[in-house]
Amino acid sequence: MNIAEYKGVFVFAEQREGEIQRVSLELIGKGREIAEKLGETVTAVILGNNIKDKTNTLIHYGADKVLYVDDPALDIYMTEPYAKALAQVINSEKPEIFLIGATTIGRDLAPRVSARIHTGLTADCTGLDIDEESKNLLMTRPAFGGNIMATIVCGDHRPQMSTVRPGVMPLFEKDENREGVVEEVKVKFSKEDRNVEILEVVKEVKQKINIEEANVLVSGGRGIGDPERFEILKQLADSLEGQVSASRAVVDAGWIDRDHQVGQTGKTVRPDLYVACGISGAIQHLAGMEESGFIVAINKDAGAPIFEVADVGIVGDLNKVIPLLVEELAAA
Ligand code: FAD
Repeated sequence: MNIAEYKGVFVFAEQREGEIQRVSLELIGKGREIAEKLGETVTAVILGNNIKDKTNTLIHYGADKVLYVDDPALDIYMTEPYAKALAQVINSEKPEIFLIGATTIGRDLAPRVSARIHTGLTADCTGLDIDEESKNLLMTRPAFGGNIMATIVCGDHRPQMSTVRPGVMPLFEKDENREGVVEEVKVKFSKEDRNVEILEVVKEVKQKINIEEANVLVSGGRGIGDPERFEILKQLADSLEGQVSASRAVVDAGWIDRDHQVGQTGKTVRPDLYVACGISGAIQHLAGMEESGFIVAINKDAGAPIFEVADVGIVGDLNKVIPLLVEELAAA
């Protein structure tokens, strides 16, 4: 493999029912930063059926070029046709770096693609940078239960490929006047590419919680003492126009649904305001929220590690502090 032939930063632009996933836009922004360090460009690759009209959004968020594969075989996500299309694009375009969001689709797709194109994959990264000397991509991800952060470099293979957690990278500022190049790529699909037939798609009926997109999160931990106590957190969240989230301890206890979990094995969030209530601040929890804009911690233990990342710390019983905050906010 002549790695000098591989150029540019490519991002898989994941769409579901035509809606581009936020993590893909975050990665285009990060891709810009990396591409500028390498003196290269950013290309977004979008796959689907009737998706040409989505290509401009990718340019507005920072892509220089968009490659799209538009085919009925790509209508609903399926591993085989998506892996085939991406592998074809990578084999012909030879990107130096290829980034995919670590969503359920990305986590399924990325290993298949990396195996087809014979390169490595660093999964579930929380940080990306360029090594100034070697110009290699430094891919950072938590390891050993979050106790160490491992930085991984791809050896002699290209592209350097990674999946990145949603919510870790900031969005590039949208500019509707940005211009770029849009090109269609044709991929031939056969019956063998569709070895699964989708008979019916059943949508989850429960209300969708998307804590990754909330501007304000009021998060509850074991210190709330009782699942009923989420009600006072909800009151605080409502007064701040935010949502409720949680630590893993309370999710594991069955006090709240897993969709709400923040942390290494939950979601990575970066709201403008994160209020941690009765959360000790274990490293696995911090991994999911320490990039929040402003952190308020309420904990009765002044030595709790959450105070080390908090901008404002309130040492006290949350059962007293939260109602007072709600009262003050109502009066404001
Ligand atoms: P605790 O650690 O029990 O803390 C409760 C806190 O509440 C204490 O600090 C206490 O002082 C305070 N408190 C008690 N009563 C009150 C009161 N009345 N008023 C105010 N404060 C009070 N955890 C996550 O959150 N997310 C993850 O994604 C995650 N992934 C993990 C992955 C692995 C591989 C492992 C090993 C662990 C993971 N964990 C994760 C678990 C993590 O290590 C902690 O066990 C967990 O975060 C603790 O949750 P907690 O802070 O709610 O509970």
